Amino acid sequence: APCPLKLVPSTLNMLLRGVYPHPLPVAAGRGWRSTTSLLDAAAVGDLVLLDPLTEESLLQTLQERFRRSNIYTYIGNVVISVNPYRSLPIYTPETVQEYRNCNFFAVKPHIYAIADDAYRSLRDRDRDQCILITGESGAGKTEASKLVMSYVAAVCSKGEEVDKVKEQLLQSNPVLEAFGNAKTIRNDNSSRFGKYMDVEFDFKGEPLGGVISNYLLEKSRIVRHVKGERNFHIFYQLLAGGSAQLLRRSRLPRTGAACVCPQDAMKVIGFSPAEVTALLEVTAVVLKLGNVQLSSSYQASGMEASSIAEPQGRDKGWGQTWAPCLSPQGYYGRDALAKNIYSRLFDWLVNRINTSIQVKPGKQRKVMGVLDIYGFEIFQDNGFEQFIINYCNEKLQQIFILMTLKEEQEEYVREGIQWTPVEFFDNSIICNLIENSKCGILAMLDEECLRPGVVNEDTFLTKLNQLFATHKHYESKETQNARRVMDATLPSQCFRIHHYAGKVTYNVTGFIEKNNDLLFRDLSQAMWASRHELLRSLFPEGDPQKVSLKLPPTAGFQFKASVATLMKNLYSKNPNYIRCIKPNETKTGMLFTPELVLAQIRYLGLMENVRVRRAGYAFRQLYDSFLQRYKMLSPRTWPHWTGSHREGTKVLLEDLAFPPEELAFGHTKIFIRSPRTLFDLERRRQER
Ligand code: ADP
Ligand code: MG
Repeated sequence: APCPLKLVPSTLNMLLRGVYPHPLPVAAGRGWRSTTSLLDAAAVGDLVLLDPLTEESLLQTLQERFRRSNIYTYIGNVVISVNPYRSLPIYTPETVQEYRNCNFFAVKPHIYAIADDAYRSLRDRDRDQCILITGESGAGKTEASKLVMSYVAAVCSKGEEVDKVKEQLLQSNPVLEAFGNAKTIRNDNSSRFGKYMDVEFDFKGEPLGGVISNYLLEKSRIVRHVKGERNFHIFYQLLAGGSAQLLRRSRLPRTGAACVCPQDAMKVIGFSPAEVTALLEVTAVVLKLGNVQLSSSYQASGMEASSIAEPQGRDKGWGQTWAPCLSPQGYYGRDALAKNIYSRLFDWLVNRINTSIQVKPGKQRKVMGVLDIYGFEIFQDNGFEQFIINYCNEKLQQIFILMTLKEEQEEYVREGIQWTPVEFFDNSIICNLIENSKCGILAMLDEECLRPGVVNEDTFLTKLNQLFATHKHYESKETQNARRVMDATLPSQCFRIHHYAGKVTYNVTGFIEKNNDLLFRDLSQAMWASRHELLRSLFPEGDPQKVSLKLPPTAGFQFKASVATLMKNLYSKNPNYIRCIKPNETKTGMLFTPELVLAQIRYLGLMENVRVRRAGYAFRQLYDSFLQRYKMLSPRTWPHWTGSHREGTKVLLEDLAFPPEELAFGHTKIFIRSPRTLFDLERRRQER
């Protein structure tokens, strides 16, 4: 029996109502870069300035800052966020005001600073933005995405029409969370799908609407989950908060403590009452399917089947028509059906929300995309899901490096500074190993799935072993033997990939079935025969008139295609990164476990990030701010400099006699190559 549901209160909703826990006013914006010393390691709010740069120093800085409740730290304009697992008084309306139109570098590192920078750049400089949020489960990605959205909602203008759009966009969260989130060991409100949302604005920066894309719902949760975890929130919400009429019609008991079904949110988005009912009815079908017991002959009892099958009680004969369909496949068929109905229902839900929030074609728009997607996963046992997820992260890493370099390059061009090529680890070789359309792992898997006759994972693995016998990033028992490597940790039914973030061993068992993701045709046809319009519409291929001999695209193929679309979309925008870190395994407030964080520093590629970021010049600052801070170091610029800020900076640095290769004078900014030079400046300033 389902236990009472404890809903994690939505930070966003609380923020909207201004009731975020402990709304303490925060001290007025005191610029860390102007008032604190850069020499204090823990005050280094930007890891680009770390000296020396080692994993150790990076870890220590994060730990020390975390200890002081500074959960945000920059690497250039990338924000690292360490989950405090405790509500901090740093998301108040006062804080919003503090960061509004702030100078990015004049205030403490904060997620609002990134959100503000991105929003202003979109509004004033017409540059489409994307905000990429990554990190492992429980690291704070979804909260971060909500903080960004609520910040943007708070600072863009108000008005009846705009408020309606904002409200619709914001309310899509609780609805999607109800259907796509579940309690897991790692996170009480864990998103079990990847989400990308484009928010579209008009030329004034007012929101017009948006488009949501979802990735890879963890549908296996429908039929089984780890002990101590739960199914998707909506099932508990339905039983505890569904209307009496709905429960009666679906023949479900009311259980669990009072909790809300997100029906109001659906209404705000624009669902009709009939749509809400239909959606919950199909949810009830899935719930009941899970309770169907099959007898030894694998027959669902007529009664049970018909009670599931008649969500509206209209169609007496239908249950009997499809109950026998379950028989040859037994529980396997039942589970496949439940997973299929639910994942299709989820897709329908996302589409339905999109219909409400979409912007009319033809309107000029600026776009801010927010990506909240699962990070790199290395478990004890890694299967098809981890393979797909890690492939996505490999692609995100690739685009991250490319975009960071591109952005650096663009800034140098803008500032008229010579660009020197940067050495970095190019992971295209790993991406290619997986996605190459002729001989990548995914292509080989598809080939195996399409092969007539008995297919199994052994032949798949054998093929990989032949193809990648000498590949530097591929390993298996067989290639190890050929290379005379002794390694007891790699079982024979596995292959291992050397990802940018580390080595992961994948067990091929289940790859073919999951990639095929087939539903028996008779089940599709039975669903299509339903008189329940929504349920029927989820199975268009069940129409006997449209029987196609062509196999549907495989799961891997579809995922690869949607990742490609996503990458193209992201690449056309100006990137902003939020890298989330989970500081402990026990969801404990303010507890920092160094080993755990170190592992994530590696998965997130933070060292590489800092290296790329400061490959050219570690530090850059607008001339006026720079001169303001250091003009006391030269009698020629102190106390007043009457010429241009650029000239003043030149004169000042001439007097300090730094090696010329340490400095570059851009059109609007001074560039300093190594952190040491900056620290030297700071030291001299303090000695004054
Ligand atoms: P993820 O999406 O990365 O799996 P969530 O964003 O759902 O993780 O965060 C997990 C939990 O951590 C949240 O439910 C919340 O309790 C806590 N949390 C995350 N970010 C913050 C934050 N900035 N302040 C306070 N608590 C947070
Ligand atoms: Mg999440």
